[in-house]
This record gives sequence, structure tokens and C-alpha cells, in this order.
Amino acid sequence: MSNQNNKSIDAVIVGAGFAGIYMLYKLRQQGLDARVIEAGTGVGGTWYWNRYPGARCDIPSMQYSYQFSEDLQQEWEWSEKYATQGEILSYAEHVVERFGLADGMTFNTRVEASHYLETEDQWRVELDNGETIQARFVIMATGCLSKPNFPNIPGLDQATVPVHHTGSWPHEGVDFTGLRVGVIGTGSSAIQSTPIIADQAKSLTVFQRTPNYSIPAYNEPLDPDYVAELKSRYGEYRQENWQRGFGADFDDNDQSVFEVSAEERQRAYEERWAKGGLAFLAVYNDLVFDMKANDTAREFFKSKIATRVNDPELAEKLIPSTPIGCKRLCVDSDYYEIYNRDNVHLVDLNESPIIRIDGGVVVTESGHYEVDALVLATGFDAMTGAVMNIDIRGQGGLSLQEKWAAGPKAYLGLATAGFPNLFLVTGPGSPSVLSNMLPSIEQHVEWISDCIEYMNANQHRTIDPEPNAEEAWVHHVNEVAETSVYPGCNSWYLGANVEGKTRVFMPYLGVPPYVEKCQEVVAAGYEGFALTSG
Ligand code: FAD
Ligand code: NAP
Repeated sequence: MSNQNNKSIDAVIVGAGFAGIYMLYKLRQQGLDARVIEAGTGVGGTWYWNRYPGARCDIPSMQYSYQFSEDLQQEWEWSEKYATQGEILSYAEHVVERFGLADGMTFNTRVEASHYLETEDQWRVELDNGETIQARFVIMATGCLSKPNFPNIPGLDQATVPVHHTGSWPHEGVDFTGLRVGVIGTGSSAIQSTPIIADQAKSLTVFQRTPNYSIPAYNEPLDPDYVAELKSRYGEYRQENWQRGFGADFDDNDQSVFEVSAEERQRAYEERWAKGGLAFLAVYNDLVFDMKANDTAREFFKSKIATRVNDPELAEKLIPSTPIGCKRLCVDSDYYEIYNRDNVHLVDLNESPIIRIDGGVVVTESGHYEVDALVLATGFDAMTGAVMNIDIRGQGGLSLQEKWAAGPKAYLGLATAGFPNLFLVTGPGSPSVLSNMLPSIEQHVEWISDCIEYMNANQHRTIDPEPNAEEAWVHHVNEVAETSVYPGCNSWYLGANVEGKTRVFMPYLGVPPYVEKCQEVVAAGYEGFALTSG
């Protein structure tokens, strides 16, 4: 039952991940009354929920961190090249404490609805505790990868063994010692967790629908000399990264695969492989744009997988047939090597799909696999899932679910026409998941807070994208995607992992042109947006 107390504030921010934390900080700096509503019992978002064994970032920690405060980035010490989930969560908690933000956050509370009140130009936000908040602005900091995707497998909801989704992992941890464990999925979450589960469990059965490419992380403690050197030019370094395709320092090489000889290419691939990590994708400038260029890297990866897995038949099953990069490249610590262990088995679901879960048995077309625990590493309803989970209604009572039924439409991924004063952080149509997400979050939060400041300074009451500008942007996002290998496989970038979801390529490819476009729009007086006054 709704307890209408007509509290009216400047802004409701939904989510207390890195986006919500920084959004609250920025709006408070403007003297606004803003409140964060978070479903979890604490801050951190991704790093609060994904506590599965082995969870880490795959962008180096020195880059996967806030840059808005020089003091913060100088003070904070990362211990490893790729920080663990626990360390990243501590960092998020530290930021909240350091900037005194906790009193602006309500936890353990879910936003269920957000309805636009046209006569007042206000949003009425309904929470699952029955409270209602009225606010001028609503900012969806709900995350691109925050709604777990549960596979639609008959009998799963009646399993008699514990079932854990990697994206909603028990806080107390899970002890797999002596257990027969089944893991469904072979994306980044499975690739990070299975080596640790394999160490602990009596046996591990990995159920693979589509193999993924993975490159070693070669994670290591951070060298203090390297950290000192980077910190001596941190601001400058961060600026340089805005000019890089993914907004991260991947040591981008501006040469084409075909500008060099086969021998030189092999040497370059070996060098990148030896360094490990996502930077492999930037070894040449056309790897994710030209299929023939991509093929050369695929051949290289195939040979590497073959050397890591002893059984050639098994190695063959682990080699993807898709272009590299069209599903996010995974970064692992001894993933393929688990298949050399006697206690690890791969079940190829292409040969024999899962039919049902029968108590504690995973039943495929040709086999029965008894397990004591089941891990769903089945990913997320990405980019739109968390936003569409909320009953959002804009002008004329139009629901977002209706508006986005044929795929999400958002101008610059920041706002969607017909929903005035509602902003999206890293929404569909922005680089988001095709970038180092922390800088992208900061760029969006700053754009939104600057916009609100501009509106207040100029007595603007509402802002809303113009439908034509939005259509043109969505068209452009797809046009750019088509020049690349990204739309070439059934990835979550396209929504292909969720049954019944419309397939549309959602992120924008290219950080520098995107940031430039956002700046141009502002310089032209918020071009493509309609502003009302009063
Ligand atoms: P989130 O961290 O997802 O936070 C959103 C919050 O909103 C959640 O806490 C959620 O509970 C809350 N919420 C949602 N709906 C509601 C509602 N209706 N009511 C109340 N609260 C709600 N990106 C990188 O760039 N580099 C990496 O190395 C990297 N590693 C990742 C590893 C994993 C395991 C995953 C899943 C993602 C990773 N990402 C990475 C992407 C990551 O999601 C972002 O980097 C970033 O943490 C997102 O922050 P956010 O605040 O936008 O969203
Ligand atoms: P994911 O990449 O979407 O992988 C999900 C896996 O589950 C896929 O192998 C998928 O197979 C499989 N799957 C889904 N439904 C299935 C079903 N019904 N039956 C059988 N298999 C099924 O999810 P994720 O691994 O959680 O990663 C999501 C994203 O989060 C990553 O791409 C990355 O951006 C981020 N992440 C990053 C890190 C990191 O290294 N820092 C770690 C984890 C996650 P199909 O491919 O056939 O759909």
C-alpha cells in the first residue's frame, strides 16, 4: 500500500553503484536535495552483488577507478594489476565515507515505479516499502549488468540442490569442498570462477553452449615504481585515455593488420599475449572492424587454446567459431588448464542440450549429471533489464516498456523522448560496456549534472530529447556497429542471450567521437533536446 507523503526533492537517483555514488556527490555539490535508492544493503553495485570466487576487474585497476578527485586517486592504493571484487567494493565504500555520502542513501529498498506528473512536471517515484517520493529529476544509475539472467530450464525452480547465480552471490560465500558442482555458462563470470571452483570441488561439470575467447590476465601485485610513475602524471594520463577507442590505455596501435608481414604480425600477437588482457584487441586498428583482420587473430587464439588444453578433441570444443570481440573477450587466470584436470568435465550443449533439472540432476538429451550444487554463470539482461524492470511512465502515460518494445531508443544513451527530466547513466546508445566503464560513468554523471545546473541557471523547467534527434542517433549507433564485427554473433550486446528480447545492437562503438558529440550538443545549446521554461 502506498504511503503518499508528498515529500518533494530535487532528484531521485536509482542505484548505489559507481554511477549512483558519483551522481549524488555531484548534485550535492550544486546544493541540491538528492537521494539514492538502492535495492542492496550496501553500495558498490556490480561489486556488491558479484561475489563469486575469482571475481575481479578486467580493466587494470589504475584505470578502473574514479578520476574526478585528484586527492582520491593519489591516496588510494590498489594492490594488484586487476583488483579483486572485495578490494573494489572496499574502494566504493571508502569513496562514500570520504565524501560523506551515506546519509543520502536508502538501502534495502527497490524503486518499483516512476510516473511523470504532467501538470506539475514532477516524477512520482514509488518504492517497495510503500513510500512515495516526488522529485523533479530521476536519474537511472541502475547499471548495464545488474539484472541477472536466469535460464528458462524446466525444473530449475524446483532443484533440490543449492543454486547460485554469479550475479547474486551469497555474502557469506559458498564452500564447494567435496561437492560435485555444475556450472552453466562459459562467459567471463564462469571463466573467472571455474578455476577456483575446480580447486575446491570434488568434481566440476561445465555446461557450455557457446565457447568464448579468453586471454590470460597475468595478474600480479602492482609494482610501486610503476604506480609512482603513473601517479606523477595521473591527470595527464587520464586525459590521454579519452582519445583512445575504448577510453582505456590498451597501447593502441594505429596500424592495420595488413600493413605488416605475417611474421611481424605473429611477433606482435605473441607480445600482446605475453602481456595478457583486453589490450590484445588494440594490437591493430582493424581487428574488430575487418573480418579478414579478425580471422588472423582467431587463428592465433585457436593455436593458443590448443596449446593450453592437452586433449585435442576437447580443445576443439573450446574453440569458438565466432569473430574475436563480438562477444566480450574474457580475461582468465588458468581457465583452459582446468580441462587438463581429472575432476573437470565439459558438456557441449550443442551436441546435447539441457532438457531439464531433475532435483539434483542436470538432464541433457544424452546424459544425466548428478550435482550437489549448481552455479548459473548465465549473465544478465544487459543494458535495458534493470530500467525496464521499473514501471516507468512518461508523457501521456506512455510506458518505457511500450516505447522500447522494439528495442531501446535513447538520445546519446542519456535520455529518452517523452520522459522529461529522466536521465540514464550509460544507457543504450552510449559507449558504456564497450568502454572502460568508470570514466564513461563519470562522463555521463558530469554531463547530467552540468545539464541540471544549466537548466537551473537559465530557468528551464524540463528537458526532453526531440524524437527526430533520437531516431537519428539510434540510426547512427547501428550504422557504426555495422562497420564492425560486433553484430556478428549472438551476444548480450544485441540482447540475444535473453529469450524473447528484441535484437538491437545497444552500445555505441567509439569513445572519442561520442564524447565529442556530447560536447557539441552542449555547445550548441543542448541541440536535439527540447527545453521548456517557467
Ligand atoms: P551497477 O554497479 O550495476 O549498480 C547499479 C545498482 O542499481 C545496483 O546496485 C542495483 O541493485 C541498483 N538497482 C537497479 N535497479 C534498482 C531498482 N529498481 N531499485 C533500487 N536499486 C536498483 N566494467 C569495466 O569497465 N571493467 C571491468 O573490469 C568490469 N568488470 C565487471 C565484472 C563483473 C562481474 C560485472 C558483472 C561487470 C563488470 N563491469 C566492468 C561492468 C560494471 O557493471 C561497471 O563497470 C560498473 O560497475 C557499473 O556501475 P553502475 O553504477 O553503472 O551500475
Ligand atoms: P555472459 O557473458 O552473458 O555469459 C553467460 C553464459 O551463460 C554464456 O556462455 C551463455 O551462453 C550461457 N547461457 C546463458 N543462458 C544459457 C542457457 N539457457 N543454457 C546454457 N547456457 C546459457 O555473462 P557473464 O559471464 O556474467 O558476463 C557478462 C558480462 O559482465 C561480461 O561480458 C563482462 O562485460 C562483465 N564481466 C566482466 C568480468 C571481468 O572479467 N571483469 C567478469 C564477469 C563479468 P551463450 O553465449 O550461448 O548465450
